[in-house]
Amino acid sequence: MTTIAERTKLIKPSVTLAIAAKAGKLRSEGIDVVNFSAGEPDFDTPDHIKAAAVEALRKGMTKYTDVKGIEPLRAAIVHKYEREHGLSYRKEDVLVSCGAKHSVYNVLQAIVNPGDEILIPAPYWVSYSDMALLAGGVPKLIQTSEATGFRTNAEQLEAALTAKTRVFILNSPCNPTGASYAADEILAIARVLEKHSCLVIADDIYEKIVYDDFQVHNIVALNPALRDRTVIINGVSKTYAMTGWRIGYAIGPADVISAAGKIQSQSTSNATSIAQAAALEAIKGPQDDVMTMVREFHKRRDVIVDRLNAIQGMRCLKPQGAFYVFPNVRTLLGKTANEKKLASPCDIADYLLEEAQVAVVPGEDFGSKEHIRFSYATALEDIEKGCKRIASAVGKLQ
Ligand SMILES: *Cc1c(COP(=O)(O)O)cnc(C)c1O
Repeated sequence: MTTIAERTKLIKPSVTLAIAAKAGKLRSEGIDVVNFSAGEPDFDTPDHIKAAAVEALRKGMTKYTDVKGIEPLRAAIVHKYEREHGLSYRKEDVLVSCGAKHSVYNVLQAIVNPGDEILIPAPYWVSYSDMALLAGGVPKLIQTSEATGFRTNAEQLEAALTAKTRVFILNSPCNPTGASYAADEILAIARVLEKHSCLVIADDIYEKIVYDDFQVHNIVALNPALRDRTVIINGVSKTYAMTGWRIGYAIGPADVISAAGKIQSQSTSNATSIAQAAALEAIKGPQDDVMTMVREFHKRRDVIVDRLNAIQGMRCLKPQGAFYVFPNVRTLLGKTANEKKLASPCDIADYLLEEAQVAVVPGEDFGSKEHIRFSYATALEDIEKGCKRIASAVGKLQ
């Protein structure tokens, strides 16, 4: 048998994908599964964006591009940050990659040395810790809870920072909790970071998906002193319903961006040429579709939070961003179903899939032993139907 490299043993396969596979199998058997597990908008990519890709194909944009991305796209990204956050970057400070996940990966590969600590507020997006491990780093979690709206703060950060801390990752609005940081909260965190020398990764991929007039703030815009050691991550997947196109980007200090570009140049080279043309239209073109999608997410958030909180044993906050809710299911742990004890969120997710034909993602993947994640990027009628089924399945627990 072939010997598989040690580094593959550092990381775990995604539970999210395992659930999706199980749900897919049930669906292929004709079973009507309500899917709350998808981490992507259910909307189709807006037509004007698709048309830009078709046009690029017609024009023969089918060759390698600059590794860092086509010039007009990087210029549009620079312009966006100038317009929306008052930040001035140059095109050289932008690296376009095959999705924001790839952007984070390249940046970590470019800056992490063996033993470096990566500080991650938990619950966290599944990939941060595994990408840190692949880079030889040591993920260190800062545990948050409902009590602080799943947001970390200056005190926690101060206590977690050590001489070995290389990176602090801030994700607002957050996947899986929806936690969104207000300006004063980011400022307090930035003041602590300012005294330290670590790099900051600001994953702003959900910046457009916010509710109740919530104002999104970028950490560099609030504290320019951090500019030379902050990399901003963003992309088109979530904002423009473009997950399959694979376009994300990093903006930051030239030395880090150039090193990340070097890593990319020896792995994927440029992101897909026609997808870059589509991303350019997404960022530069009309933004009405974004507003329509966010309005729809807003309605769904209100309904799902209401319905879940009406179920005995589920307790969830109303997050101000992203399209996830992260109810606490602690009081369901230890109950039994069909003589089987539900000992973990994973057991609960399994039970809900089997008993209620509802797919959710267990919290373990995100660093929690008492939550499950629902994505409400799904039709309102499915939200109503799914929550009814869950209520009835939970009612059967003993
Ligand atoms: C979805 C997601 C990403 C990456 O999205 P791409 O499709 O790779 O652009 C990055 N960060 C968070 C927190 C996400 O939820």
